[in-house]
Amino acid sequence: MLKMIDRVAGMFSVDMGIDLGTANTLVCVPGRGVILSEPSVVAVRKGSNTVLLNGLAVGDRAKEMLGKTPGNIQAIRPMRDGVIADFEICEAMLRYFIRRVQGNRKMFANPQVVIAIPSGITQVEKQAVIHSAERAGARRVFLIEEPMAAGIGLGMPIQEPTASMVVDIGGGTTEVAVLALAGVVESQSVRVAGDEMDDAITDFMKKQYQLLIGPQAAERIKIAVGSAWPLEQELQLTVKGRHAKSGLPRPATINSEEIREALLGPIEEIIQAVRRTLEKTEPELSADLVDSGICLCGGGALLRGLDKRIQASVEVPVAVAEDPLTAVARGTGIILDNLDLLKQILETAEDV
Ligand code: ADP
Ligand code: MG
Repeated sequence: MLKMIDRVAGMFSVDMGIDLGTANTLVCVPGRGVILSEPSVVAVRKGSNTVLLNGLAVGDRAKEMLGKTPGNIQAIRPMRDGVIADFEICEAMLRYFIRRVQGNRKMFANPQVVIAIPSGITQVEKQAVIHSAERAGARRVFLIEEPMAAGIGLGMPIQEPTASMVVDIGGGTTEVAVLALAGVVESQSVRVAGDEMDDAITDFMKKQYQLLIGPQAAERIKIAVGSAWPLEQELQLTVKGRHAKSGLPRPATINSEEIREALLGPIEEIIQAVRRTLEKTEPELSADLVDSGICLCGGGALLRGLDKRIQASVEVPVAVAEDPLTAVARGTGIILDNLDLLKQILETAEDV
């Protein structure tokens, strides 16, 4: 979990915490908060894997290209399923974000960097992240598991001998973890999260309306009318896509009830991961959770009624974090500012 790389100490470094997410990368600088949040997407020339040269080819601009690229360009999400699909591209992305934060100080800067990574990634991938950050100019690189960073970002009492539980629903993975005494006591990482919800919507639109839609449209539908629990006021939306039979552009009007139905599968898988984690948790810690409950974070936590749906299923109080998309990044910032806490987390991780 930890790798520390010591190089020549820099003069004016901008230390930073990075949430290297499957959907979004965020950078938090102590004292300044989250200063960058962009999609983890890189546009490359097909075949060559060369990252497009202007800085616009990473992040927001690259995400707009998803599903819309001309023949010779490809938009890639290097972290898509919680594993690094492409080391080179992941490195280019990390370098781009680090350099952007460093700005024109890069000549002097050798920052310390804390990177939160999905807990499912392998040793080889961890090394790749460390080397990427190092090549991007980092002096010391600390990797910490995403749920731990989330717990810290959410202000949970993770150092105490009492259990806290966090469920981070991102794009590619859902990370479920019980935290206590600065360690991850129990955890599950499943490759079902926001992307799977989008895929379920795409499938539904094709099956029910013979309408072909792209990944971005599916995500927009989820955000606009998606839910996991009946809404006080059900919603409607007109969606446009390509009709499967005629091949022509067509609209269709959908409602939140049918989208809820379409999302049942992925949501059930997320609930199963929560359930399995609870079942494996020691009784003493389990007892704590009756009171402290479960906190949801990550973009998926914003799905309407997901808290109610999970609570109804596991019968433990569930709350949505305040500002769930930035919890992990804020956590990395807090850790950078609190090296005792970092040491404690890393020691706990090494004991395991
Ligand atoms: P990661 O940590 O994997 O990068 P994030 O925590 O940034 O992921 O969350 C991204 C996911 O959250 C995407 O799948 C996105 O569609 C989803 N998301 C963002 N806002 C909402 C919303 N309001 N309702 C449902 N899902 C959302
Ligand atoms: Mg995340």
